[in-house]
Amino acid sequence: MRSTILSSVCLALATLATASEKFSYNGYKVYRVKTGSNLETVQSKLASFDFEQWNHDSTSHIDILVPPSQTASFEALDLNYHVMHADLGDSIAAESAAPTSNVRRQADNATSWYDSYHPYADHVKYFDDLQASFPNNSRKISSGKSYEGRDIYGLHLWGSGGPGKPAVLYHSTVHAREWISAPVVEYITYQLVTGYKSKDATVRAFLDHYDFFILPFVNPDGFVYSQTTQRLWRKNRQPGPRNSTCFGRDINRNWEFAWNATARGASSNPCSETYKGEAPSDTPENKGLDAFARKLRDEQGIKLFIDWHSYGQDILSPYGYKETLYAPELGKWTKAANLVSGAIREATEDRTTFTFGPSGAALYATTGAAPDHVYAIGGADFSYTIELRDTGDAGFVLPPEQIRPSVVEQWEGQKVLISLLDEVFFDGKGPA
Ligand SMILES: [Zn+2]
Repeated sequence: MRSTILSSVCLALATLATASEKFSYNGYKVYRVKTGSNLETVQSKLASFDFEQWNHDSTSHIDILVPPSQTASFEALDLNYHVMHADLGDSIAAESAAPTSNVRRQADNATSWYDSYHPYADHVKYFDDLQASFPNNSRKISSGKSYEGRDIYGLHLWGSGGPGKPAVLYHSTVHAREWISAPVVEYITYQLVTGYKSKDATVRAFLDHYDFFILPFVNPDGFVYSQTTQRLWRKNRQPGPRNSTCFGRDINRNWEFAWNATARGASSNPCSETYKGEAPSDTPENKGLDAFARKLRDEQGIKLFIDWHSYGQDILSPYGYKETLYAPELGKWTKAANLVSGAIREATEDRTTFTFGPSGAALYATTGAAPDHVYAIGGADFSYTIELRDTGDAGFVLPPEQIRPSVVEQWEGQKVLISLLDEVFFDGKGPA
């Protein structure tokens, strides 16, 4: 989720940035507080509290993390709320309860991978194994190094006739704590590889028409930090500027296009969760990703770009930076998102609902974000942010039992979306 810490109410967590021991969330509670027409009252009641806000748009509710010392006084405020996590420490323990070092079978039948969360090193190995199982139609790629020197690795897949066709580009885990996003793109990769090898006609058609470029961890330092030290870390791990003691820049507020378009779309405060950096692409992660996207644009064109996030269950298209600006392609993007949403709903027992629309108008303004940039600069025909499960029972700490349904429903959605990429959506008259 593209959420923020309210700058005035930063938790003491920020001071942990340089500590090596793991931060404990024992006794922390997460609440969803109803706002609506009472937003101002709620905000004034919360003004004296030290809390972290998980979501960004406060119009219907705010999801807040409250430290143990403040839960009693929070509950005494008599706000309209429900408890998302009664003890976030317990929820995090449950999230990691399944064995993380389980012996994986060969990549081809490794769907047990999708029953638990895994350490970063195992993710690297998982993609290595997938690549090794598909040697003639794939290669390892990299968009460069992270601040701490980790490789921003990925896979490039292609079908008959070799590489060079229009590109489908997926980015995942730009926000470190959004753990569900990597398994989703890994599962899509797994389906593409195994489907192509088993001669599945649908998958064959996808890879014969498009090259896939899949980067599961575009913020590897942040992800590792979220596993070793602070589960709710979001940004990269770059030291702050101007003698700031706060770490990290939001790589998804750091893209060049509309980087500084409105103060509402990102923060200039190095301690904020949406700190945009001192200049566009002043994170090594973003610099490499931008160069990679421009190269794809120039060499083979970008057909589809998706930046995978959690949470909220939304399919969002440009523009994010200006709520009142509609791209000429909006009709096409919205029709496609509607069909993807329908496919996900039909594919799930509980009829999971994903909402859709232009990012800024549907949710809130975001500047320097990937979908705007990869559309406006990268020339992508389709460009989306997908916010994965859930809608706010678990938020970022999604139980491992929900990994499998999440990845399966997204594959169903992508099968519909990819099949639409060359459709003619309108008659050529008027806006698409
Ligand atoms: Zn996010």
